[in-house]
Amino acid sequence: MKKSRLDVILDVLDDEYPERESLLDYSNPFELMVAVSLSAQTTDAAVNRVTPVLFRRWPDAESLAQAPLSELEEVVHSLGFFRQKAKNLVGASQRILSEFKGEVPSSMNDLTSLPGVGRKSANVIRGHLWGKPGIIVDTHFGRVCRRLGLTTSKDPVKVEKEIGEMVALERQHAFSMTANFHGRRYCHARKPLCEDCPLSPLCPQLGVEGTGSI
Ligand code: SF4
Repeated sequence: MKKSRLDVILDVLDDEYPERESLLDYSNPFELMVAVSLSAQTTDAAVNRVTPVLFRRWPDAESLAQAPLSELEEVVHSLGFFRQKAKNLVGASQRILSEFKGEVPSSMNDLTSLPGVGRKSANVIRGHLWGKPGIIVDTHFGRVCRRLGLTTSKDPVKVEKEIGEMVALERQHAFSMTANFHGRRYCHARKPLCEDCPLSPLCPQLGVEGTGSI
């Protein structure tokens, strides 16, 4: 049976990016929840510079739930939105203790009930920790999908729904990661490297003026 264009895109990306580990450093579910929560509006590298200090001082939900806000704010200050992020981390830790017996929950509803954890973060956590399907829509993923003509939407919730309906469950997490990596390596926001891109034969944007605005 002839493969669909989407399947070929997924295959090319699978070959190009065989490593699909998170770029955030973590060693247990709690640390991943913290790192993902801190990664909003900043880079993974910036988060990785902060978390070693944070995890040394507050290694689990029990200790972070009692962290003095001013001290936590100081540690996460460089990441932007530091007051909100510190407040969210303490709130999420308290909720993990009071509602989930100290364990990071695995369902979408439970995860998104934690302060600072939205659908994107929940999909990252579920996919990396438990291999659950889910489309992780961030700026790179959305841009790559729009340029490939898989969606026209800029609304992350719509993109998640549309792509989630197209991609088989067992390929969703991998596609989320590989499309993200592709956006970082070739499909840059301003100057995509179309001539070197392994998806160029499949991409309607190649050579189209104004790609950078999509
Ligand atoms: S051909 Fe260009 S626009 Fe299309 S996916 Fe590759 S880098 Fe992005």
